[in-house]
Amino acid sequence: MAKIKVLDRLVAARIAAGEVIDRPAAIARELIDNSIDAKASEISVDVRGGGIESLSVIDDGCGIEKDDLPLTTQPHATSKISQLDDLYHLNTMGFRGEALYSISSVSKLSISSNGWTYTADCTTDGELTKGGCERGTRITSEELFKNLPVRRSFLKREASEAQLIKNTFISKAMAFENIHFKYYQDGALKLDLPKRNTLMDRVLDILTIDQKLMRSDFVFLESENSIYKIRIVASLPSLHRSDRSGIKIYVNSRAVDEYSLCQAVSYGYGEALPGGAFPYTVVFVDEDPELVDFNIHPAKKEVKIRNRAEIHHAISSLIHEKLPKSIPTIVSADEQ
Ligand code: ADP
Ligand code: MG
Repeated sequence: MAKIKVLDRLVAARIAAGEVIDRPAAIARELIDNSIDAKASEISVDVRGGGIESLSVIDDGCGIEKDDLPLTTQPHATSKISQLDDLYHLNTMGFRGEALYSISSVSKLSISSNGWTYTADCTTDGELTKGGCERGTRITSEELFKNLPVRRSFLKREASEAQLIKNTFISKAMAFENIHFKYYQDGALKLDLPKRNTLMDRVLDILTIDQKLMRSDFVFLESENSIYKIRIVASLPSLHRSDRSGIKIYVNSRAVDEYSLCQAVSYGYGEALPGGAFPYTVVFVDEDPELVDFNIHPAKKEVKIRNRAEIHHAISSLIHEKLPKSIPTIVSADEQ
């Protein structure tokens, strides 16, 4: 007797969604990416009940046509690529056409644009109603994992989930100084990051939020050739901490977990820092999309960089050669 069955659409959708949407912060990540791709100049994130009760992202971007609204929650539905080859010329954050489909399979999703609102929750056919956001787009996810108690039980307390969303928000805002970002939590505006003229200003707005670090502790380093552009906001050797978490790497505006490029930063500082000390350094690598491949992990945290060795060398030598050498005074910010 045949044992193989094709899974029901809802079951398949929920399994697939597990890879992309594991917690509210993943919803924030995907919705903010969509607003960036829509060329928004202002993005607001509104979180209630740790993003489990509701999480909205509102933007003033290009909006979605009425006829396209019901397509947004279909699997593999995207306006960003149309053929495989487009993957090698990507200049958008999204391309898989999976996010809204996945979110709608684990929560109640409403997408509002051009005066129409489409509501979908996977268990029913979506519904298009008149009314809602006129300019830009507002997307809201409510009641996350309501029908998935096991997934729900893996979530942390609301305050911890909100903190993770806030971290995601900050991580996205870091790379887009030309976008005004606002973060609301349970009705209160918690973070307001106005547009800035330079990337350095945006990075420092963020690094100095908790007021432990000062703008005067940082320098901006840049190097560019026909293949790559590297911009680094680097702490002077007098400022450091005892773990690696102050080092952040962005490749083509995406935050990535790239241990080898973090190491390149440490090599660049070399002897300027005492043993066991790490800097606060944010590195932005911009390369031809043909040289990087983000299509490895659904959350796009991993990247294959074809000229990794060259980028590694460029980062460490830029820091080594251009960072003002000052005699380290042993002050650790995490001890202050
Ligand atoms: P992807 O971003 O990979 O294309 P998504 O599921 O995130 O897939 O979004 C599906 C489509 O919905 C996008 O390709 C885009 O056309 C549209 N869309 C989603 N969010 C927005 C937004 N904030 N503004 C404009 N269009 C959007
Ligand atoms: Mg997307």
